[in-house]
Amino acid sequence: MLNFYWLLLLLPVAAASGWIAGKKSSQKKRQSFAGLSRRYMVGLNYLLNEQSDKAIDTFIHLLQVDSETVETHLALGNLFRRRGEVDRALRLHQNIIARHSFNNEVKQMAMFELGLDYLAAGVLDRAEVIFEELKHSQPYKKNSLKQLLQIYQLTKDWEKAIQVAERLKLLQENYQNLCSHFHCEIAKTFIEQGELVEATRQLLQAEKKDATSVRVSMLQGKICILEKNWEKAIGVYTKLIRQDALFCSEILENLRICYQSIPDDQGYQSLLKEALANGASSKVLVALVESIRKTQGDKAAGLFLTQYLKDKPSLRGLQLLIELHLLYANDTAKESLLILQSLIKDLIHSRAVYLCSQCGLQSKQLYWQCPSCKTWGSNKPILTLYNKPNS
Ligand SMILES: [Zn+2]
Repeated sequence: MLNFYWLLLLLPVAAASGWIAGKKSSQKKRQSFAGLSRRYMVGLNYLLNEQSDKAIDTFIHLLQVDSETVETHLALGNLFRRRGEVDRALRLHQNIIARHSFNNEVKQMAMFELGLDYLAAGVLDRAEVIFEELKHSQPYKKNSLKQLLQIYQLTKDWEKAIQVAERLKLLQENYQNLCSHFHCEIAKTFIEQGELVEATRQLLQAEKKDATSVRVSMLQGKICILEKNWEKAIGVYTKLIRQDALFCSEILENLRICYQSIPDDQGYQSLLKEALANGASSKVLVALVESIRKTQGDKAAGLFLTQYLKDKPSLRGLQLLIELHLLYANDTAKESLLILQSLIKDLIHSRAVYLCSQCGLQSKQLYWQCPSCKTWGSNKPILTLYNKPNS
């Protein structure tokens, strides 16, 4: 903090030194410099009296905006914005734009910075107007479109976000993965409104942008479930598990409904085993053991689970094994098992379920766009203890 103010303190000195060097001979200018020095002393006084706000304003005022110092102004404005002092950044940049003496290049430079100020201040409509204008200017085209892409994500205007991403594609910027998520966002709204044909159309677009998207498969599966097209849903979910088995835990209930409706217990168990072999979390193991219990009884389920846990121990698996033992335990053993079960339950409950691979955010809810680092598709279900995919 202190360093920043000392840096600020040096700026008018630098500006004045440059100016005085070029204007040494003029008496009139010497008088002006005397005035400059007085104001500088006033600013210094404010700083010494810890009136940093007044000091900053005095120093900014001292630093005359001209072609020599405009870059210093822009750098200072940038610094203010980064420190969260957006009001000051806005004033600096508006001051440059208001000067008639500057050419278009300088004004556009300040306009772009002003757009970033508005974006930082959350005044998105004003930021949008600025970047909409600057996108027609060749030097700012790409960066303005990138800012517009950010604005349309914040305002959840997915149609416009797609249009901007398509324009960026023409400029060799690849946002196809994001575009796929934008189409998914639109599809999700259509599904909520019961407009399944429109939703399907959007998902086809999303799939074209990213053929490996598990989110597309999840939404396609949801549509099949709503249409009670069980066979088609199973096909979509099988594709999802082969895309990324970790996401099998997200569609377990729908998968169970599909196989129950056909019915095909063997097919269900076989697909869950495939998912587990490819790294699905222990939630899938729980579903599989429950299905084995239903079709082959407790003993078969217990034997399968014990064998499985020897290779891949997991807390959920252990919790399930205790549940099975509790069914047949005598009173003394039951008491110990209940204590153990309670401990494991607390341990599982305290653990996060999803992890962002970009920023490490752990959450209990699956976010398609990480609320912390804003990356799309970076959140994934976390594997439980030792339950790691086969490599
Ligand atoms: Zn993140």
